[in-house]
Amino acid sequence: MLYRWLTHLFRAGLMFTLTGSLVAIPAVYANKSDDSDNTEMLVAELAEDESVEDVEHSEPLRSSEPKKNSGKADTTQKSDEELASQDKTPDSMAEPAVEEVAPNVDLKEVAPPPKPAEPAESKTSEPEPSKPDATADQPKPTAQGADPATATDDNGVEESAEVTEPEKATSLKMLGAEVLPGTSTRLAWSPAIQIAGLSQPTPVLVVNGAKPGPNLCLTGAVHGDELNGIEIIRRTMYDLEPDKLSGRVIGIPIVNLPGFQQGSRYLPDRRDLNRHFPGSTDGSLADRIAHSLFENVIRHCDMLVDIHTGSLKRTNLPQLRADMNNPEVAELTRGFDRMAVVHSTGTTGMLRHAAVEAGIRSVTMEAGESLRIQEHQIKAGVNSLTSLMDKEGMISRMFVWGDPEPVYYDSEWIRAEHGGILFSETKLGAKVSEGEILGYVSDPITNAQHPIRARSSGRIIGMAVDQVVMAGFAAYHVGTEAEVPGE
Ligand SMILES: [Zn+2]
Repeated sequence: MLYRWLTHLFRAGLMFTLTGSLVAIPAVYANKSDDSDNTEMLVAELAEDESVEDVEHSEPLRSSEPKKNSGKADTTQKSDEELASQDKTPDSMAEPAVEEVAPNVDLKEVAPPPKPAEPAESKTSEPEPSKPDATADQPKPTAQGADPATATDDNGVEESAEVTEPEKATSLKMLGAEVLPGTSTRLAWSPAIQIAGLSQPTPVLVVNGAKPGPNLCLTGAVHGDELNGIEIIRRTMYDLEPDKLSGRVIGIPIVNLPGFQQGSRYLPDRRDLNRHFPGSTDGSLADRIAHSLFENVIRHCDMLVDIHTGSLKRTNLPQLRADMNNPEVAELTRGFDRMAVVHSTGTTGMLRHAAVEAGIRSVTMEAGESLRIQEHQIKAGVNSLTSLMDKEGMISRMFVWGDPEPVYYDSEWIRAEHGGILFSETKLGAKVSEGEILGYVSDPITNAQHPIRARSSGRIIGMAVDQVVMAGFAAYHVGTEAEVPGE
């Protein structure tokens, strides 16, 4: 009797669970066509490569005339006042009123793991002895204050106007801490979405130069399975010397910490964080994380390089994705040595897109494949970030440029027309001509061989690794050299 009753109860429970999930599934898959609502980005859509979508939804590259398109010109003009007002927002809104001087940590030294506490608390618990160091370093910027003027002027960067008279480097106030000029430190960002006691802060590395200059931000692993960027940021940041740096470099090697820990591209709720920027305070988990990162960290940036890799077993030539119709972004791309630059306007919700909208010059760097550490790609990334900092007058290292000019590409993806096993005949970086066979899709049952041909002449800037594919799978990314507005 009791058994039957329990069985009944169990069935009822099962039914409840089943109906629950049946109701939930259509809700998830509903409104697929509604692009405007990013808060409900769908799992089905996310299965597609960001880079494929990104390119195919991109507005065409406008040739020659740097058209003063109303929208973008407005945003760039607005940017200064926006930034001025926004600069205060993160500090006053999301952070404790008291800013502790951040300990001066030599980033080249092995550090203890960040303490699992709120940013402000972790600061108070940092070892005291380093504080006097930080203060001791303070006079340095004044002593060397004259240097950046020449360095920056030579490069004709937009900061040149401000730098004509020697300017002192200032403290950087972020995440509840004050980072003095000429020091480097580790801060922690907590999006405050977890159980407070279990909250795990995301490390943020900051180098505040002894000399004034722009703020460069580097973000890695927004997709938790994209590893090359983490190492690119580590090498770049740990190579900086605060007393020789003009400006600040803010690096978040692993933005999507939960995804990284699970080897997953997505957030724990299966959402793609890179479709939710600039985020909101009352939206989904992804919206809240995006908002917190954007307000507390990204708003401090003048320039942003968001580092990604190909996804879904696709690999990329080291390349930048940039909206070349935006003159400021186009100018930024000229600082990257030996990087192909692929025009892409970006999609709403992407970090790069949201940052550009907020007046922050931004590009996405794509380097290699997900779930792998690739030395060649990492070196290329570190090299081009070094050249960027040199070009922007932030460091002076007698950088030797590889190619005098970056090569700009317009691009298209070529998709498999049949399902089967993909065998490539071409290689990443290869030059191909229209009609050339790039690879075959072989049907293991019928023995049919379906060739995939290039539709235009150009270079293979991204491609799928050999694998089982379905019809419609984006297999080859062919870049065609393009003229760049304003050249
Ligand atoms: Zn990515």
